[in-house]
Amino acid sequence: MAELTKIVLSEKDMPTHWYNINADLPAAGVEMAPPLHPGTLQPIGPADLAPLFPMALIAQEVSTERYIEIPDEVQDILKLWRPTPLYRAHRWEKALGTPARIYYKYEGVSPSGSHKTNTAVAQAYYNKQEGITRITTETGAGQWGSALSFACQIFGIECKVYMVKISYEQKPYRKLMMQSWGATVVPSPSDQTNAGRSILAQHPDSTGSLGIAISEAVEEAATRDDTKYALGSVLNHVLLHQTVIGQEVIKQLEVAGADWPDVVVGCTGGGSNFGGFAFPFLRENVINGKSARIVAVEPAAAPSLTRGVYAYDFGDTAAMTPLLKMHTLGHDFVPAPIHAGGLRYHGMSAQISAIKEAGLIEAVAIKQRSVFEAALSFSRSEGILPAPEPSHAIFQTMQEALACKESGEAKTIVFNLCGHGHFDMASYEAYLSGRLSDYEFSEADMKESLAHLPQVA
Ligand SMILES: *Cc1c(COP(=O)(O)O)cnc(C)c1O
Repeated sequence: MAELTKIVLSEKDMPTHWYNINADLPAAGVEMAPPLHPGTLQPIGPADLAPLFPMALIAQEVSTERYIEIPDEVQDILKLWRPTPLYRAHRWEKALGTPARIYYKYEGVSPSGSHKTNTAVAQAYYNKQEGITRITTETGAGQWGSALSFACQIFGIECKVYMVKISYEQKPYRKLMMQSWGATVVPSPSDQTNAGRSILAQHPDSTGSLGIAISEAVEEAATRDDTKYALGSVLNHVLLHQTVIGQEVIKQLEVAGADWPDVVVGCTGGGSNFGGFAFPFLRENVINGKSARIVAVEPAAAPSLTRGVYAYDFGDTAAMTPLLKMHTLGHDFVPAPIHAGGLRYHGMSAQISAIKEAGLIEAVAIKQRSVFEAALSFSRSEGILPAPEPSHAIFQTMQEALACKESGEAKTIVFNLCGHGHFDMASYEAYLSGRLSDYEFSEADMKESLAHLPQVA
């Protein structure tokens, strides 16, 4: 029998529960530090988060229940594009001349073009359940803003997106996508919040950052009764909602008759696609004696996992969010303008940070020119034009496959292709015309960032 190229599950094979890694962290010897209040620096409770999030999501944030049921209504909406396909990269393997077997999960088939829609739908649902009529958020490259705009439209919730000003100007089509789904999009820093006005007073020409946009969205939600805030990455409940990805992949590898993977690869910005993809595999490592290597790939320009310190820090620039213990480059770090907008964040999910600290996953940092070279190598064989973010995972997969070519090993490698690059063509243009530069986080950047970390006893 010819080996499958595309492994497609039926709707009835869609996961009915999210997998919560919190349940298995103690067995893995991983300890989570509690989030702290930004004012008192004391551990926070559910009441502290209530102005920002619906109670159901706060409960998921701290839950230790291993499997949490996905509400039927959420499952029905996810079925618009789930289960997503898993591909065997036959052509790319041949082009690379590798004996390795490469598989990739494709999340670009969602309405907004990335994995972010998986959590956007769940978050909008729980807000709707609790009577919320408006949600604010931030977006950098526009992937998260698009996903949430779509989800809010489905549930009849008003959506207001603070979009990092430079992206607002450089990515008009992402903005229009959000507006098409009924959202209001404001360039950040804006004059609509204290946080925005204070940045503009100091830096009238500020092009914005994710940290600033988060401050604006959080401030608006905290000061209005009808409004809550939604975050597209980093938090435990967001990673939880993404675990449909890894659960599907495990089923699909089984259907394909594939070996258990030797290597599992994903890119990390705040950690949500990586966590959602890798946690079900990590559980098998920890509980069932499997031994896949799990590799996180980040940009050399924003290398939180590989070079950041593991310390308490704020999630935003204005120091309004709770502090998380995580790998951070400092909350006022403004990353170089690399094209992988979704990977330009100073911090990392607390779960992934703790797991990395415990030595259960590996991490590497890559410069962007190599990333685009790998993206084109992949695209010229497989067709799909990947977003710059998952192209980091593609680069690492290519290194693993070429190492197999050297050693003659037929390893099984699986990576998460978490979004397409159709709104990123300007970055491809820069690469193809030779205008794309490499950036690396310097020692001076490092010193500067760490000088501003909050002092936690
Ligand atoms: C947002 C985004 C990322 C980075 O966020 P994670 O939470 O680390 O997944 C990566 N890829 C794409 C396509 C994104 O939209």
